[in-house]
Amino acid sequence: MSSAAETSVAPRSKFEPVIGLEVHVQLLTATKIFCSCSTRFGSPPNTNVCPVCLGMPGALPVLNKKAVEFATLAAMALNCRINETSIFARKNYFYPDLPKGYQISQYDKPLAEHGYIEVPSGEGRKRIGITRVHLEEDAGKSLHEGFPGAEEKTAIDLNRTGVPLIEMVSEPDIASPDEAYEYLTRLKEIILYTGVSDCNMEEGSLRCDANVSVRRHGQKEFGTKTEIKNVNSFRFIRDALEYEIGRQIDVIETGGTIRQETRLYNANEGKTYSMRSKEEAHDYRYFPEPDLLPLVVDEKWKAEIARALPELPEARRARMVKEYGVTEYDAQVLTVSKTLADQFEQAAEAAKNPKRVANLVQSELMGRLKAKGIGIEQSPISMRGVAVSADLVESGAISGKMLKDLYDLCFERGKDFPLVYEEEGRPQQSTDTSALEKIIEEVLAANPRQLEQYRAGKKTMLGFFVGQVMKASKGQANPQIVNGLLAKKLG
Ligand SMILES: [Zn+2]
Repeated sequence: MSSAAETSVAPRSKFEPVIGLEVHVQLLTATKIFCSCSTRFGSPPNTNVCPVCLGMPGALPVLNKKAVEFATLAAMALNCRINETSIFARKNYFYPDLPKGYQISQYDKPLAEHGYIEVPSGEGRKRIGITRVHLEEDAGKSLHEGFPGAEEKTAIDLNRTGVPLIEMVSEPDIASPDEAYEYLTRLKEIILYTGVSDCNMEEGSLRCDANVSVRRHGQKEFGTKTEIKNVNSFRFIRDALEYEIGRQIDVIETGGTIRQETRLYNANEGKTYSMRSKEEAHDYRYFPEPDLLPLVVDEKWKAEIARALPELPEARRARMVKEYGVTEYDAQVLTVSKTLADQFEQAAEAAKNPKRVANLVQSELMGRLKAKGIGIEQSPISMRGVAVSADLVESGAISGKMLKDLYDLCFERGKDFPLVYEEEGRPQQSTDTSALEKIIEEVLAANPRQLEQYRAGKKTMLGFFVGQVMKASKGQANPQIVNGLLAKKLG
């Protein structure tokens, strides 16, 4: 028999985790999914409500067309098949912030199915399946603090009731907490690119629940899963999964059984706690929503929606590597948001030499940002600023050395390149040959030994003199002109 000390380390390798994620994002429509109330975040409690979203008897839902278009667009970006006909269903449960006693969702006929996204995995890439994408309405919010009497009472804010959501359910294809983290990062990035949600976790526009079980290697059947709910950052989800996998293995190794249940993660302690036994789908008594017609997204409408589909981050990165010669890593940084990638590409296209813009971003901007510990969105030099500086170097107006100095000033002053260039009096590298000739004579006079070596046939000394002249001109001279003048002078 093995001791407890042995079982705490060794068993991990005997088991493999199986993870599936359910992600809800709020759609950026101006109004709710079944009424014309505003979806604005932060309004005074219970001000964005009407008989429909309050669930008054006799009030009828009317489907928001924009919500359908956004949901379809997101599903397309996730490589899903769009079902021409989908059905809204009532999901029945009682909760204080759900005034109707049911939530309108989709059940056996969702809007879209059979999608996938790709995540980096080891050396290569791994495809993670997306089972379904469906539309539903959000519930209200129970408030436990921030109002008079909060010690004894719970308040209800129904502003969020009826806000449109999509739920994206992954296949249980995720094999580690790190992979779950990657999946969420990619998923969020794709949704942000489509513009259908701001995915703001602090405001609850993106929420994630994780299903996790463990099984022995080689075992076909899934183990009993638990669901971890309402974790509010991707990092915490990774931590929560890490903890939960270890907990399940410990339970099994010590002869216990896993109960199917919902668990909450306490980020301060890094542990999950049992909240309630998990509901099965049949507990919700789903049935088709009698107040809504089947939703039909036909070929024509689908084609219209597809026109709004932007180039997605993965494809864009691959193209940028090819087109601008940037590294994979820099392409990653430049595509961190669609806005930044758009700005970069606009600047690059507007500049005389797009590759030089990319080079300057890589060689001059990234390092300075890193040294300052700030992200590219906080860069004092904008993409347009980089393009302006690239053109000045391209035309020979300023030297590489001058550009470096100007960039330093931009970071010191927290100002964009064109502004600092103006403040410095639009410096030009020196093309004044009489001044340069004087410097050259001084340099030659000051280095007689090197001059002798040059005359004796050591032609590489030319580089030394160019360097000395550049130094004496404080980087203001144009190296090509210096080269020409020196060559003439030395015969
Ligand atoms: Zn309403």
